[in-house]
Amino acid sequence: MISVGEGQAHILAQVTRVTSPELIPVGRALGRVLADDLRAPFDVPPADNSAVDGYALAGADIPGLGSATLEVIADLPAGSVLGGVVKPGQAVRIMTGAPMPAGTDTVVPQELVERSGDRVKIPTIAKGANVRLRGEDVRAGTVVIRSGAVLRPQELGLAASLGLPQVLVRQKVRVAILSTGDEVAEPGQPRGPGQIYDSNRFALGGLVEEAGGSATDFGIVPDERGRLRAGLLEASRAAEIVLTSGGVSVGAYDLVKDVLGEIGGITFWQVAMQPGRPLAVGRIGDALFFGLPGNPVASILTFLLFVRPALWKLAGRCQVFPVRFPAVATEPLRKKSGRREFKRGILTLGPGGWEVRTTGPQGSGILASMVAANCLIIIEEERGDVKPGDTVLVEPFGSLYG
Ligand code: AMP
Ligand code: MG
Repeated sequence: MISVGEGQAHILAQVTRVTSPELIPVGRALGRVLADDLRAPFDVPPADNSAVDGYALAGADIPGLGSATLEVIADLPAGSVLGGVVKPGQAVRIMTGAPMPAGTDTVVPQELVERSGDRVKIPTIAKGANVRLRGEDVRAGTVVIRSGAVLRPQELGLAASLGLPQVLVRQKVRVAILSTGDEVAEPGQPRGPGQIYDSNRFALGGLVEEAGGSATDFGIVPDERGRLRAGLLEASRAAEIVLTSGGVSVGAYDLVKDVLGEIGGITFWQVAMQPGRPLAVGRIGDALFFGLPGNPVASILTFLLFVRPALWKLAGRCQVFPVRFPAVATEPLRKKSGRREFKRGILTLGPGGWEVRTTGPQGSGILASMVAANCLIIIEEERGDVKPGDTVLVEPFGSLYG
């Protein structure tokens, strides 16, 4: 038996490359991984500009006490630039975002002035007030988004604010997905006696896409040596990662490991975890191969623990493990020490902080337990039973808002 952590380390050590870079429009780059540090090509903002609607003037004209009256010589909307220099005793009506005219360094907000005709009465104000300075947001040449970062909406906005129409990102990792087993039937087709509908291919396809990969469906392969071999070889040519589910336990029809032994390399693991113990990891040609357990909960869990970090590393992400944080268990949790256990949890915010309970029955075939859950509860190897009030680690599924 190996531990979850040892398994993850072995797998990540197998990933020695990243996908190639490609240049794509900023508007299509949501969720993609940046392939190179992004540096600001110019200062942001590019010029000193007004932070408010008001009157731009020179610091020397600010009255010490009481007020001063200045002559308004121009009106400056955002997007316009005033030629010439503003002289002592003069002011310019200025809109938010408009560049500061030469000769001015301070803006008096319009609600603090009294205007009559082309004269404006201004109060005392700090020199330099209400001006956004050139480069105060970003200096030219600074790295604004690091290579390996996932592009969120705010990163897309930042890239666009720098005038970039395109960004250099990593190509999506291609993942081929097959189900194995004579007992699995295709949804929409009649189901024979003793058959169940395939759920794993669909859950795994969703997990791949959610992780930023590109899933290709290779269908259901029966428990037959020749068909399995052909399916795996074809899949390995079309993808960087090949995933199967089912057929890695020790049943008589578990051919996956035999066939893999012939066409690639394979290690058959018993991972000290619950659920999802049997796992096959190997290689077919250039593709990484994962033989996930058939039980629906176990296949999702082993994907999250072992496949997703590899996918993320291949995609060039600098962060390959998700965020976990502590929560207080509100019910007792049975736990065998010596293995890491994962329960499906419901995380809620209580009066004192995050609280978590399980979704009910935790059998590894009970997919409804995943549907009811919004997080995984992680109980480390060395721990035994958990009492109400004890702290456990949780890992939220995707967004907590969903
Ligand atoms: P196996 O790993 O092939 O021994 O399968 C373990 C359990 O998972 C069995 O109950 C299978 O019927 C079930 N199973 C295998 N493949 C799938 C699948 N694609 N979708 C849903 N259940 C599956
Ligand atoms: Mg099977």
